[in-house]
Amino acid sequence: MATTSVHSLSFPISSSFNKPSKTKYAHPSLSSLPCASNAPPSPLIQPPLPVFETTPAPAVPHSSPYPSPYPRSRLIFLLRLAIRHKHLPLLRGVHALLVKISDTDTEEPSPSDVVFLTNHLISGYISFGFLTHACKVLDGMPQPNVVSFSLLISAYASQCGMLKHRTSYGDSRASVGLFRRMRRLGILPNSFALVALLVNCLRRPNPLLGRQVHALAIKSCLNSSLHVTNALLGMYAKFDSTDIMLSLFDEMSERDTSSWNAILLGLVEERRYQEAFDQFFKMRMSGIRWDHYSLSTLLTAATEGFGAFQGEVIHACAIKSGLERDMSVSTALLGFYKKHGSIDDMVDLFNKMPAKDITAWNAMLNGFVNLGLFDFAIEVFDKMPERDSITFNSLLAGFCKNGEGNRGWDLFVQMFKNRMPISDFTLVGCMNAVAITGDRKKSEQIHSFVVKCGCKLGPRIHSALIDMCAKCGRTKDAYKLFKKWSHKEDFNIAFSSILSSYIRDGHPEKTLNHFISCCKELEPSSSLFMDEFVMATVVGACGALGFDGMGQQMHCLTVKYGMAYADPTIGNAIVNMYARSGNLEHARKVFDEMHSLDQVSWNGLMDAYLLYCQGDRVLDLWSEMKELGFKPDARTFVLVISACRYTGHSSVGTCQEILFSMKNMYNIEPSDEHYAAMVKVLGFWGCFDEVEELICNVPFKPSSSFWRSLLEICRLKSNPVLAKKAMQNLLALEPEDESTFILASNLYAASSRWYCSERVREEMRSKGMRKIPVSSWLIQSNMVHRFYTRDRTHPRSKDIYGGLDVLILECMKNGYEPDTSFVLHEVEEHQKEHFLLYHSAKLAVMYGILATGQGDVVRVMKNVRLCGDCHSFIKLASILTGREILVRDTNGFHVFRNGECSCRDRW
Ligand SMILES: [Zn+2]
Ligand SMILES: [Zn+2]
Repeated sequence: MATTSVHSLSFPISSSFNKPSKTKYAHPSLSSLPCASNAPPSPLIQPPLPVFETTPAPAVPHSSPYPSPYPRSRLIFLLRLAIRHKHLPLLRGVHALLVKISDTDTEEPSPSDVVFLTNHLISGYISFGFLTHACKVLDGMPQPNVVSFSLLISAYASQCGMLKHRTSYGDSRASVGLFRRMRRLGILPNSFALVALLVNCLRRPNPLLGRQVHALAIKSCLNSSLHVTNALLGMYAKFDSTDIMLSLFDEMSERDTSSWNAILLGLVEERRYQEAFDQFFKMRMSGIRWDHYSLSTLLTAATEGFGAFQGEVIHACAIKSGLERDMSVSTALLGFYKKHGSIDDMVDLFNKMPAKDITAWNAMLNGFVNLGLFDFAIEVFDKMPERDSITFNSLLAGFCKNGEGNRGWDLFVQMFKNRMPISDFTLVGCMNAVAITGDRKKSEQIHSFVVKCGCKLGPRIHSALIDMCAKCGRTKDAYKLFKKWSHKEDFNIAFSSILSSYIRDGHPEKTLNHFISCCKELEPSSSLFMDEFVMATVVGACGALGFDGMGQQMHCLTVKYGMAYADPTIGNAIVNMYARSGNLEHARKVFDEMHSLDQVSWNGLMDAYLLYCQGDRVLDLWSEMKELGFKPDARTFVLVISACRYTGHSSVGTCQEILFSMKNMYNIEPSDEHYAAMVKVLGFWGCFDEVEELICNVPFKPSSSFWRSLLEICRLKSNPVLAKKAMQNLLALEPEDESTFILASNLYAASSRWYCSERVREEMRSKGMRKIPVSSWLIQSNMVHRFYTRDRTHPRSKDIYGGLDVLILECMKNGYEPDTSFVLHEVEEHQKEHFLLYHSAKLAVMYGILATGQGDVVRVMKNVRLCGDCHSFIKLASILTGREILVRDTNGFHVFRNGECSCRDRW
């Protein structure tokens, strides 16, 4: 926010259409100042040019140093003519004449005449942008006056911030240097020099210099000048010294619209919206007329800080004063209605605009994008008479925000083909889009594009690159990029991308290792690397591992640094961590202690109960939520409907009621997910007639998730007819989806079509899809012991295999028969059994039994669903070993005790 007013001074037609009122705002002190040259007004707001001596030129005496044909009045006329008509040769000609006269004339021209003419010459060179020439003219002056200096100080101040970085900084120094030189010569500044210097302070932020100028203004009694005071107000507003600004404002004996505009802007920039409106009321009472700057500033306040009423009041003022059609006001109004009004208000306003510039079109497009109305946004995009990079960038950002990675990518390709300027913003947008698609090839393409175009690796591009690589399965590249990180800002973003990538790759333990080593290297409280996102990721890693002990430590850390209950994000992550670590009571306790709850919190606890198949507790929580007046969202309904599978008795009726209440009572349209959950409930309770009825009655074309749920429940309840139907629909709908590939591959494998199965897997690999290997693990003495199928890498594998063989034999004696239908590999039948007996879950359970004491619970985690064979084996093992065995798979928890599982075989 702090830089807005700087930009507003140099670029009145700002590219930042989101904050039109700020960007359109001009410095109050600049609007009413006279201009020395008669050149056509520059499109950029300039600092004031000092006024020339106002005394009329004295009549040329007989003893004039410039005898006819070059009297002083004629030379001035020629200089003005050259400036007005932008005629450089004429200007140079007059300059040459002046030199010639002063060299050849025997009679000395009076010093005042020399200064007067030379000042005009300086002004002439400035109007052509030849500041160095103007400086040389100044250097050659024997007695420059305040006007000579003020002209150049203003010229340099006006260029400051407009040119390339280094040059503009140089200009800023030149301006200050000239001022100092003037002071050294003992020349007292005038108000214009002070205003120019204040503009300089604004453009190259220098609060100290600003305060010095204020002191000088008081010392030289220039603080009573309206122009100087207005510039001071603007300066204090810019440097967040609003209180000084207000006291200065109170002391002013005379105020104009610019003075009021300055304090309105200062208050709005400090988010003191109510005070801004109070001041506006006083402004109206004092009879000062508002202008389009006042209104657009207040519209920003109304957009960001208030509801509809204040904005509508300003809209009424705009209509009353005829400023509604002013471009800056109407664009600010569009911004306001985008946030507080309906889409109809926006469209209405937009249609009424007499002239629509690209900023207005962009505001309209952005409005639709923010509301997620992409069809309308694209309609606007197509209708736009001209488009700039902002147009493309906002559509790109919108696609990313709505998770439409592929459309974002297509737009970027279009931009590239149309030779649109590609900014850092565009590249970040494109990389975010690719990260959403997770497409490895595209990520490599854009990565090489960034390298090829020599793009500077600033923190935003750098972190976007890391995030994209991490999300597209290029963890190594992401880590290499991360190693090169040298920026001070945004470290947290890059760090949390890296931490999340390990979890995504199925190695949450690496997340913890990396975080802990960072804690050792850096001061933990350093905000450099520890923020809510990082902590939520680390707590999430503990949850993914099921590492209760480490999770507790991280919980303590968040409490220590005051993050735990500050906002629900961390609290929600902690609830999820405890639930996934098999500690449901702790999860509930944290939920009860949270200071504020959001919908994610309620959904999170429901999710936790579902992990333990506690449907009745989900329904209790649902009632509690309604009683407390919390509004459910679409996700809540998916969870509540799903809970009906795990209730004590058939709750098909309840489930149907909930589905119908969604639209009628909560105005939430049931989506695919809700119908998919419903299918699972109906199928679970054996109501397949109702399932078929539901398939016919779904008000839209069911998507893949619907058919996938049907397939799952048909397999569990052995309904091959419906399963086939689901399979056919699924393959027709999503032949390109990763899960469909795995499904197809597994189906081919199940029907022994190994060649087809392998071909599908090959295609998956070529598309950059990854299959994380199946593994099971347990935490023992703060170490993660991970096992893969037939894994012999563990140091105690000899004991594990020996123990497992004995246990398998014992189980077989008690009726366990390996079920080879769970093996999906092209191997002989006896080999299949071998595969099955050494599934990762069995190895991990065996290690758990060996490594823990008799009374301890064996806790095993698995990254896919527990297979049916392992499930029946572990049930028997729990009797034979007399141990309680807890297994968490992707669906939830199985607690095996005395040959029974808590899931009652319906996972
Ligand atoms: Zn298994
Ligand atoms: Zn179970």
